[in-house]
Amino acid sequence: MEDKTYFKQFDINISSLKIGKHNFDMQVDKTFFEKHVNEDIIDADILIKLIVTCEGNVIDMDFDMQGYLVSTCDICLEEMQIPVSKHENLVLKKVDQPRISDDEDIVYITEHDYKFNVEQYIYEYLMVTIPIRKEHSNKNDNDRCNPLMLELIHKNQEQSQEPHYDSRWDALKKLKLEE
Ligand SMILES: [Zn+2]
Repeated sequence: MEDKTYFKQFDINISSLKIGKHNFDMQVDKTFFEKHVNEDIIDADILIKLIVTCEGNVIDMDFDMQGYLVSTCDICLEEMQIPVSKHENLVLKKVDQPRISDDEDIVYITEHDYKFNVEQYIYEYLMVTIPIRKEHSNKNDNDRCNPLMLELIHKNQEQSQEPHYDSRWDALKKLKLEE
């Protein structure tokens, strides 16, 4: 079940915004990814400080995202943190007729849009912080691959590198010759 009260924080009531700066704090955690399911993400703890500057027909949204995502390491398969420290900007422009924007940082809105939801934008901003190859940095004790797992992988690699003769194949060949 989607936690409706949790997701309300991502709705910005733009119709009642007064000219000037407005601060919004949002929290991205496990609940967020129960809705925006992503196979790479197990958990998250990210604080989003959104500064909305209303200048009448132009609304500027400044996102500051700090925290971490929790994923699994591609090498040892244990949990690992992906640090998030990101800044993004989005501009809403009020126009008379609904219009599609060809600039991903600009969104056109009309006077009928009284609410603007930033959830999907935040999701996409966070997704690009996931590296293609996720692995522990092994730079400090809190960010280390599981040594047992590494040992196991190492052993496996050694075994597969050893030249070996498949006796089943040999037996089959013998069988064919005898026919
Ligand atoms: Zn690892």
